[in-house]
Amino acid sequence: MPKTEKCPAIKGKKSERVKIISELLKKLYPDALCALEYQGDPYRLIVMARLSAQCTDKRVNEVSKPLFERYPTVYHLAKAEQREVEDIIRPCGLFRTKAESIIEMSRQITELHNGQVPDTYDQLIRLSGVGMKIANLMLGDVFGQPRIVPDTHCIRITHKLGLISRADPVVCERELSRLVPSEEQSDFCHRIVLFGREWCKAPNPKCDLCPLQSRCEAKEKK
Ligand code: SF4
Repeated sequence: MPKTEKCPAIKGKKSERVKIISELLKKLYPDALCALEYQGDPYRLIVMARLSAQCTDKRVNEVSKPLFERYPTVYHLAKAEQREVEDIIRPCGLFRTKAESIIEMSRQITELHNGQVPDTYDQLIRLSGVGMKIANLMLGDVFGQPRIVPDTHCIRITHKLGLISRADPVVCERELSRLVPSEEQSDFCHRIVLFGREWCKAPNPKCDLCPLQSRCEAKEKK
């Protein structure tokens, strides 16, 4: 297709385009696995999600192994020495803030929620270091509620694909929530992250071989 000619997916309504893109992503990543290896444990996922700010999922997975060996439950981390935690999570960057935050968050979970990660948005965002992205990740992945997780991959790629009007977390969450069917929202976000890691990397996307190339407005502008 000539670069100036828009493909049918770009021309169509956003709801039709998201359907086409979602089907392609399903074929690429049928399992839609969360990139964070949290072994089904909500405590691990909420801590790992906090560590993932400005850090790759790969590094978070590596750093989390010694962290959870030393602090296997939320009760252990709630009583941890900040210096010890800092030393373990240093490779994730922002290690002082993150250490303080995950200890405080663990303390809140033990004192206010009987050691269980809460299952409502309002309770989650009151935890230290938890914002919309982490709250939605927890609700979608652990508690089975339809949620869009506007992480950096999701924002960047859905904007390139012309699905959202602005590369902004609030806009991304609001607009994708209306476009992606509720039962598919969690899986769609996981697939976008996997796609970002494999193909649409920042700053060097593999556009020439990209399976979504013909659906991408960013590619079209090249
Ligand atoms: S064509 Fe390039 S910019 Fe567009 S989604 Fe694929 S890798 Fe990303």
